[in-house]
Amino acid sequence: MPELPEVETIRRQLEPEVTGRRILEADVLDARWTRPEPPDDVERAIAGRTIEAVERRGKYLLLRLEGGRTLAMHLRMTGNLLLDEEPAGDGADPRRLGGERLYEGNPELRYLRAQLRLDDGRRLLFTDPRRFGHAVVLRDHELDEYFAARLGVEPLSDSLTAEELCRLAAGRRAPLKSFLLNQLGIAGIGNIYADEALHRAELHPLSPAGSMKPEDCERLRVGIVEALEAGLRSGGASIDDYRDARGEQGSMQEEFLVHTREGKPCPRCGAEIRRIVVGGRSTYFCPSCQRRLRRRPRRRARRRVAG
Ligand SMILES: [Zn+2]
Repeated sequence: MPELPEVETIRRQLEPEVTGRRILEADVLDARWTRPEPPDDVERAIAGRTIEAVERRGKYLLLRLEGGRTLAMHLRMTGNLLLDEEPAGDGADPRRLGGERLYEGNPELRYLRAQLRLDDGRRLLFTDPRRFGHAVVLRDHELDEYFAARLGVEPLSDSLTAEELCRLAAGRRAPLKSFLLNQLGIAGIGNIYADEALHRAELHPLSPAGSMKPEDCERLRVGIVEALEAGLRSGGASIDDYRDARGEQGSMQEEFLVHTREGKPCPRCGAEIRRIVVGGRSTYFCPSCQRRLRRRPRRRARRRVAG
């Protein structure tokens, strides 16, 4: 599943290609893509508008359109964005944004869910075998409220400070792994980068989030930033099932410190990396150098306020 570095990689590739281009026609082939909005409404709302900017919020990719509209897309499990290499690209193989390392080599147009025809003759295509991907058109005044209900702090912005992390974690008994996956706290982190961030921070994934002291929050902040930046440097990473057939999984895994490396030595201390399941998600960590924090005594006043 694409996480912040993967979506940001796609954004950076898409931005120079489509900024300033006009959407001549929008074609939604799968009503589930825009649910609960009817596809016709979404097609009408974006057709004819020029793409003014390509932005990202959490794992959402945003096409900012003229006239105060935004097409916000979420790739979810298996969504992909494809762009024709050449104008009038009908029939030619479109290029998979994010590149070979992020997704399988051959785009499968039979999973096409939507296509935007651009004024330079190219097409921007959304494919999605499992159909969890989603798109919504928002007006400018709706943006803040829409994302405030879904996303928390952007981890690569100045808003993510140790103090903010401690504030978000205060009183929370959820394991750190689950805390990091909660998009309403910190936006954009998924299963891969949660494991990698916790390893860098030397914190055990089962530690209760609220047990962090200020110095732990600072370690976690640094771990999050470093893990995401490592992902961005390698142009994103993904280890979904598609990779197996292409024989690239071996080299991809080398870039992970712990994720998917069960039984292998910890790159920091050499102990054997373990896999456990936390909140239904596979979680990889080093039992030797990732510290398990003890729950701190709870303050009654805080409980009453929180409850
Ligand atoms: Zn270790």
